[in-house]
Amino acid sequence: MADRLDPILPGSYLGVLGGGQLGRMFTHAAQAMGYKVCVLDPDINSPAGAVAEKHIQADYIDQAALKEMARLCAAASTEFENVPAQALDQLEALGVYVAPKSGGVSVAQNRITEKKFLATWQVEAGIGPANHLVIEREADLTQVTEDLLPGILKTARMGYDGKGQVTVHTRAELENAWVAFGRIACVLEKRMDLDFEVSALVARGHDDEVLAYPVAQNIHKNGILHTTTVPAPSLKPEQEIKIIEAAKAIIRRLDYVGVLCVEFFVLKSGDIVANEIAPRPHNSGHYTQNACVTSQFEQQVRAMARVPLGSTRLVQPSIMLNILGDEWLNTGSQIEPSWNVVLADSCAKLHLYGKAEPRVARKMGHINFVGSTSADVANACDQAIKVLRIKR
Ligand code: ADP
Ligand code: MG
Repeated sequence: MADRLDPILPGSYLGVLGGGQLGRMFTHAAQAMGYKVCVLDPDINSPAGAVAEKHIQADYIDQAALKEMARLCAAASTEFENVPAQALDQLEALGVYVAPKSGGVSVAQNRITEKKFLATWQVEAGIGPANHLVIEREADLTQVTEDLLPGILKTARMGYDGKGQVTVHTRAELENAWVAFGRIACVLEKRMDLDFEVSALVARGHDDEVLAYPVAQNIHKNGILHTTTVPAPSLKPEQEIKIIEAAKAIIRRLDYVGVLCVEFFVLKSGDIVANEIAPRPHNSGHYTQNACVTSQFEQQVRAMARVPLGSTRLVQPSIMLNILGDEWLNTGSQIEPSWNVVLADSCAKLHLYGKAEPRVARKMGHINFVGSTSADVANACDQAIKVLRIKR
């Protein structure tokens, strides 16, 4: 059972570990409700630090910085998946209400513990992780069976946006890839025939209320999220029910307060596989900003402030299109994209993160397209892809 404590009211400071775009959008949502925000991030130019009332520029485990955050903030959360668990624990020890707590966050920080956790209800829910083998030492390589190849070797820690993973077809390729990663702990996963990918966004309040957003369908390009479409066009209603039940079971089992995202693969065979857990608001939940009653960022604020959760109802169909640094660079020289042309569509909602330097594959912003029908929204997104010359 989650803590039952008094609500933290507007006017109070909320703390966030990490100053990236997720922290920035969290800050905007918190400020809209009258809260103040304190961001801890070592980078002087962090997107969230630029908009928060207070930016503590220090390392996540800096003792003085954590004490300062604890003095100011009644509650704290994280926007950065790889924030050291000890930073969350120390804030809690200093009397701060931490949501989610380090236990739930750290399960998702390591693919080995994550897969072990995802396997725990495979039998009852019929959804489990991909077939895989943990590779921590040379001898583990001899355990690889043919059915795991071709496979994807993923580092256990610090992987995101397709980084820290490589496809291997043979045992020799696998061994070379593991050596190239520096013989660190990895997971070899069977490469599966995906039909499509979806994510389930769920939230749990301090009072144990659990709410789910509609399941969203994702398209990735080069391992990076490209678009999220809601309602998910390829998903069958019975699959959606099963996926939402699994995600709700996950958030309860982790005794997790806040917003959590679970990525699933739907295979050509129709089977569903749980891929990974993100212990925070997620890129595939950005559509909620303009398509749902309550955005995922407002929901995170509500959960950590111990006020009731907001409705997750979808008001209108939506597609989220990620904007990468490539869109500034795809003509050879650096040119600001034609935002005025994109915004000529009166239902295109532009969100930019205030990052000064566009780099290839760097997430710079996103556009949420909304409309009265899914077809209208898809057309609007296609138009913008052309205008911005986004490579498909
Ligand atoms: P990241 O932490 O980088 O998001 P993921 O494990 O989610 O890592 O992998 C990124 C993408 O790579 C997935 O969204 C999917 O498109 C593809 N992928 C990952 N694992 C598999 C797999 N076992 N079989 C087929 N495709 C996969
Ligand atoms: Mg992923």
